[in-house]
Amino acid sequence: MKTLPKREIATGLGEIVKYGIIYDEAFFAFLEEHPDDVLALAPEAAVHMIARSCEIKAAVVSEDEKEAGLRRILNFGHTMAHAIEQETGYVRYNHGEAVAIGMCGAMDISRRLRLVDEAAVTRAVNLINRLGLPTKAEGCTVDVMYAGIFHDKKTVNGKVNWVLADRIGHTIVKNDVPEDVVRAAMAGVLA
Ligand SMILES: [Zn+2]
Repeated sequence: MKTLPKREIATGLGEIVKYGIIYDEAFFAFLEEHPDDVLALAPEAAVHMIARSCEIKAAVVSEDEKEAGLRRILNFGHTMAHAIEQETGYVRYNHGEAVAIGMCGAMDISRRLRLVDEAAVTRAVNLINRLGLPTKAEGCTVDVMYAGIFHDKKTVNGKVNWVLADRIGHTIVKNDVPEDVVRAAMAGVLA
């Protein structure tokens, strides 16, 4: 991992932050408390980050068998991320960077729907920022991004399954988020 370019490390970190937000507040807090070790891939931090991310993914996938659809929470941040990647031609942002921006958007939707308070959004955005990931998308427009979410393969019959946070460490899925809320959150993540 030490030989990876900084930007490639950043892309992994985007998904790692995601695991904290969707499933494990203690893991999120670990990332908040050790940003320098995380960025430097200090051995203990790197081992914990990777192990915990794999454990969470495995737990979500295995619980999915009991709670059908739970694995959808792994898509947190990805609905807007895919729209951003598409609009910017898959060159401006790598996947983890687009996910980082998409998570900021999803947190903002969560706040607008009063699922979380401003403090939770600030925590998420601050961690993303602290780990050197983007929180705003350049080269995107609300109209193209909005149209883009309906091209996502996870969008079924025009219903977007938004994975939203109801606290740091837990998510819920909503498919009835009003268009104006989505558009306002998209406008919020445009640089
Ligand atoms: Zn991803």
